[in-house]
Amino acid sequence: PVDRSPEIQEARLKLPILAEEQVIMEAINENPIVIICGETGSGKTTQVPQFLYEAGYTSSNGTIGITEPRRVAAVSMAQRVAKEMNLSHRVVSYQIRYEGNVTDETQIKFMTDGVLLKEIQKDFLLLKYKVVIIDEAHERSMYTDILIGLLSRIVPLREKKGLPLKLIIMSATLRIEDFTENNRLFSVTPPVIQVDARQFPVTVHFNKKTPLDDYSGECFRKVCKIHRMLPSGGILVFLTGQAEVHSLCRRLRKAFPFQKNNDAGVDDDREESVKEIRKFKKSRKQKKATALPQIDLDNYSVVPVDEGDEDRDAEIDDDIAGSDMDLDLGDGDSEEDEKPDLSLPLYVLPLYSLLAPEKQAKVFRPPPPGTRLCVVATNIAETSLTIPGIKYVIDCGKVKKRFYDKITGVSSFRVTWISQASANQRAGRAGRTEPGHCYRLYSSAVFMDFEKFSAPEITKRPVEDLILQMKALNIEKVINFPFPTPPPVEALAAAEELLIALGALKEPPLTGRLKEQQAAKLSCPISPLGRVMATFPVAPRYGKMLALSKQHDCLPYTITIVSAMTVRELFEEFDRPAVSEEETVKLKGKKARLLHIQKIWAGQGALQKLGDLMVMLGAVGACEYAGCTPKFCEENGLRYKAMLEVRRLRGQLTTAVNSVCADTGLYVDPKMKPPTEAQATYLRQVVLAGLGDHLARRVQAEELLDEKWKNAYKTALLDDPVFIHPSSVLFKQLPEFVVYQEIVETTKLYMRGVSAVEPE
Ligand code: ADP
Ligand code: MG
Repeated sequence: PVDRSPEIQEARLKLPILAEEQVIMEAINENPIVIICGETGSGKTTQVPQFLYEAGYTSSNGTIGITEPRRVAAVSMAQRVAKEMNLSHRVVSYQIRYEGNVTDETQIKFMTDGVLLKEIQKDFLLLKYKVVIIDEAHERSMYTDILIGLLSRIVPLREKKGLPLKLIIMSATLRIEDFTENNRLFSVTPPVIQVDARQFPVTVHFNKKTPLDDYSGECFRKVCKIHRMLPSGGILVFLTGQAEVHSLCRRLRKAFPFQKNNDAGVDDDREESVKEIRKFKKSRKQKKATALPQIDLDNYSVVPVDEGDEDRDAEIDDDIAGSDMDLDLGDGDSEEDEKPDLSLPLYVLPLYSLLAPEKQAKVFRPPPPGTRLCVVATNIAETSLTIPGIKYVIDCGKVKKRFYDKITGVSSFRVTWISQASANQRAGRAGRTEPGHCYRLYSSAVFMDFEKFSAPEITKRPVEDLILQMKALNIEKVINFPFPTPPPVEALAAAEELLIALGALKEPPLTGRLKEQQAAKLSCPISPLGRVMATFPVAPRYGKMLALSKQHDCLPYTITIVSAMTVRELFEEFDRPAVSEEETVKLKGKKARLLHIQKIWAGQGALQKLGDLMVMLGAVGACEYAGCTPKFCEENGLRYKAMLEVRRLRGQLTTAVNSVCADTGLYVDPKMKPPTEAQATYLRQVVLAGLGDHLARRVQAEELLDEKWKNAYKTALLDDPVFIHPSSVLFKQLPEFVVYQEIVETTKLYMRGVSAVEPE
């Protein structure tokens, strides 16, 4: 019996899925696997776990597990369901990579897909679960795809054991044929329950022309027009990244401020609005330049390797690469920016995955009386979260994604057109409560050229981490695995080759014909070293470093370096365009200070040769020594959130190392001393062992045939010159041989995370 509040009860009754409760529960009771499809907002994520709970699926210690591809959804949905059911977080809990509130009493557990995959390694049959729900399956995240493949085998095994497991796959109404018409995956096609959404008609308006670059500016003009001319109703704007979202929010708050409302509690967004008015008034008296938008960089965090989240990646990038289009808003050049219109208050809220949960929660609450809600979001609002009261959608038609070269693994961030399916999802956000409108900032001809669907993640990125995990589950012939969509054979081969080179897989015998050899290469069993590597929740290259570090008491250092490389972007980026002369000076000062302190962190002698990895080690050491305070981070150009994630990962890796070899007695030492010269030398060998395929040699003067090779390095895989990134401490030293953490392509191919190595 669930004791829900009357308001919750009323809101639930409006959800289309409630009418289907009986149909859904009958299908689940009678079938091991069920697919539920329904438009975003129909109530799948919040209601299906409740149906199962009420039907007794958690009695006698059974747990209902729900996986989400995004952290945001795992956290916010657990909170929402707990609230709807009037149950404590001890019972309805979540687990994401670094945090969670799961207890012994947990009966409904939301988690990221990566978390469940790790659990399968420990308990292949997932015995603690009575039901597993794979949510947002249409997003086709890499771990979701793998989970579906694995669960297609686990479900029959549980059946045989007499301990049946129910699998429920939930998806938007999108390309479910990949699941239903794939008889390698499910030999018996599971029943598909379609939940009709009460979708009101959405009128789609295409632009006549497609703006070339300035889609942010175009969004701004559209919001202004809608707000001035169209009847009430919330506006939802889709942009591509966090910096863009913030710029547009500021610009809109300035154009349509509203005064502090005395009877309502003050929240910081309103405060910000009031501040904007004051600032604006002040700036009118001063120079015009000070009215330019400020780009808020406070909310950055980092990508964990095992929680794929495209917008998370994209949001960070705004910062790394100083992306061209968000900063060039040309603010202040249009007439709307000049006169703030106090008669038309607009309640502007940002929404993106790195935003703090309490700020995200604001979009679910009604806007202050007399104002119109305007949410400026990244792709996250496309399917993961549903915002009530949206009547107008503005779709820029773009998305920011990380792209990987299939063979070299070189990555770059690109803003590309979305797929037709995404465009339709975005439009659908407008018709939830009444007929709506969607403004597409591109022409219908451009839309017709969009791809129908976006490609599943597993087909787009390197898969070595995934293959190692699968091998650790004794899936040797990865090529025969029932993937919903298999990765390209080249990517599988590249992954196996890397894993063989790292010693994680047993090399195939070099006999037989070429074809047999190749086939053997794609079905190598895991080695004992590979098993150790697979227990660490980091990329295989880093796992290898950890596995090798027992000598010379190097483990604490390797753990720290690996944590820092996994978390990425520890340092603030000061190379961004400033909004005023004053800020330019400030940024320059901060940058000079960071460069200075990085030199200190880089140490002397053998330590210095570790290059950027020593800087990371020094930075984490110094920060922890000082107690890892926001103040220390601010003063030293470190990102506080990144440092906290490094701390958590160090803890996790230390536990993992201790569980592999019990005699180390390792703990995370906040007062870690710098390594000795001998340790630093050994650490360089460890780094080389992990990053051996990331070796680069400096092009010598006598080899210089072309100016473009000046100061360049040659790598095994690339024909083009690569360079040490200017942010590296080795940028000026140009050692003869280096290994790098990754190559990122911006204006050139740049190596990041560089360390010097000695030639053999
Ligand atoms: P689906 O999974 O089918 O997309 P959900 O179960 O996520 O649908 O959402 C159902 C409804 O619950 C949505 O219309 C949304 O407005 C509401 N809702 C979801 N989360 C919250 C929340 N945190 N606060 C208020 N309402 C919410
Ligand atoms: Mg959902």
